[in-house]
Order: sequence, then C-alpha cells, then structure tokens
Amino acid sequence: EKAALSKFIGQASQTADGHVVELVANIGGPDEAAKVVECDGEGVGLFRTEFLFMDRDSVPTEEEQFKAYKTVAETLEGKPVIIRTLDIGGDKALPYLGLETEENPFLGFRAVRFCLKRPDIYRPQLRALLRASAFGKIRIMVPLVTCVDELRAVKALLEEIKGELDAEGIAYNKDVEVGVMMETAAASLIADILAKEADFFSIGTNDLTGYTMAADRGNSDVAYLYSAYNPAVLRSIKNIIGAANAEGIMAGMCGEAASDPLLVPVLLAFGLNEFSVSATAILATRKVMSLWTMDEAKALAEEVMQLTTEAEVKALLEERARS
Ligand code: PEP
Ligand code: MG
Repeated sequence: EKAALSKFIGQASQTADGHVVELVANIGGPDEAAKVVECDGEGVGLFRTEFLFMDRDSVPTEEEQFKAYKTVAETLEGKPVIIRTLDIGGDKALPYLGLETEENPFLGFRAVRFCLKRPDIYRPQLRALLRASAFGKIRIMVPLVTCVDELRAVKALLEEIKGELDAEGIAYNKDVEVGVMMETAAASLIADILAKEADFFSIGTNDLTGYTMAADRGNSDVAYLYSAYNPAVLRSIKNIIGAANAEGIMAGMCGEAASDPLLVPVLLAFGLNEFSVSATAILATRKVMSLWTMDEAKALAEEVMQLTTEAEVKALLEERARS
C-alpha cells in the first residue's frame, strides 16, 4: 500500500487525462509545515490559527504570530499558504477571553463576527499576516462569512493596516489575496456575489454540512443527517464551485470531503481547483485523481446529481469507487 503510493511522490496531481489541480494540506501550527513538504504537499490550504491562541492564558502577540506565519511561509518556500484568521467560538472556546456561554454557540458570536467586534485582537493578527506575507506566498482566508459586508470590512481593515505599514516602512505583499471560507448556507446562496469580491474560495464542508442540514454532528440523535452525500450539500458545493469558476477565481476545499475517495471524482467534475487534505492523505488523494478521466468523472457526477437521497448517493459512489 505504502510502496504503491510512493510512485506518486513528485508527480503532478492530475486526472488520467491530464487535468491538473492543486493538492495542498491542512495544518494547525508552524510545527506541522515540514510534514506537508515531506508528504509532497503543494502548499498549505488551511492553517487553523486558533491553535496559536489555545492552551495558553493570553492572546499571542503580533510578534509571536508573525514568527509563526513567517515560519510556515518560509518552510513552504514560495508554495501557496492559506492562513485562516482566528476561528474561535462555536465549539472552540478561549477561557481567557471570558466570553459568555451561549445557548446556540454555532449560531452565535464566533469567527469573523467575533474578530470584527474585537479589533484589539484582530488587528495584530492581520498585521502579523501582512508582515509575514513578505516572506512567502501567504493568502488570507476569512472564516464563517455569511454576507459580503464581512468580507468588505476585513478588506477595509487590511487596507488601513497596509497604510500603517507603509508609513512605518515595513515590507509586505501589496497584492496579498483575501479569500472566503465557504461554510455557511448563506455564503453558498450568495456565492456569485462573494466571488466578485473574493480572490478565492475554500469550501469548509465540515461546517457547511452542519449548517446546511441544520445538524450538529456531536449529537448522536441527528448525526445521521450529517453527511456530505446529502443532495442538499452536493448542490451547495456545486453552486459554490460554479460561482468561483464563473468569476475565474480559485475554488478550493479544505473540509474533510476533499479527501473522501468516493467524492474526489465528483469534486473534479464540479470544477474544484484545489484540494486541501491532511498531510498523510496527500498521496492517496493524488492516486484517486489519477484513476479517473474528466469525462468519466463528469458522467458519474451527472448520475449522482439525479439521485434524491443520501443513501442512494452513497450506494452509487461506493459501487463506482476505484482503488
Ligand atoms: C470546515 O468547516 O470544513 C473546516 C475545514 O474548518 P473547521 O473544521 O476548522 O471548522
Ligand atoms: Mg469551519
């Protein structure tokens, strides 16, 4: 198994007929960046920065964050590194912030909502990211966006900070890309609007599945609904990718579905350009891609999209699985 996968080291990530995509990895900290390179990842598709804020008793300083982001950018040596700004709240609490417990934390004060209300915490992170952008190909990603106002507000804050850095003579990438994590039903429904103002999309299927199906995967009574094979979730994914393709921006995916061997051909057929998976799943995902031509993948996706239930989708994908 391992030996069979090793022949994919150093190979392009492509279908049997040569349709090339980007295959990158998810990380939780600077210490995981070397593993991505080792596992032949073509970049980082999601750096979950909240881990820098966890297991400590205060917010990391701008300098601490700068060092972490710079380390990842340098380790990846010019390969793309998508860094997601702080995504706390929901299931990820930071006790030292003293936030009130909420009755519906997943519908509450989290991620970009929290960050925009707390510039004292968000500004140093954005400043650290801009400074680090001088040392590699950093892209900034905004989590849990539900309306275009949030993207605009983050971009405005970035422009303000760029002005400060200019005044201080500090280097940064003036063209740093700002993308949206597509993980709410609202973002999916306005994907066409967001695609006009975002530099890229990355679909967070972990949250998108939960928010689309209104199902908490941690609740075993409703966990049966929590599946990306639901026609509702598949339509949402297809819509998001279609909107990105129509505007010519990158359509990526950093949720678990990106490395699901049953879904990979369907995602290729939808036009997904970038797959971000755990480092250890890179070669297996590259292999699955190589087993399909685009025409075969499109034929499968067309059949899948005719189906009406999660069970039917799962059964068909399992029947057609290649390995
Ligand atoms: C997601 O929601 O799919 C995702 C990748 O982010 P997280 O799992 O950190 O919420
Ligand atoms: Mg998420």
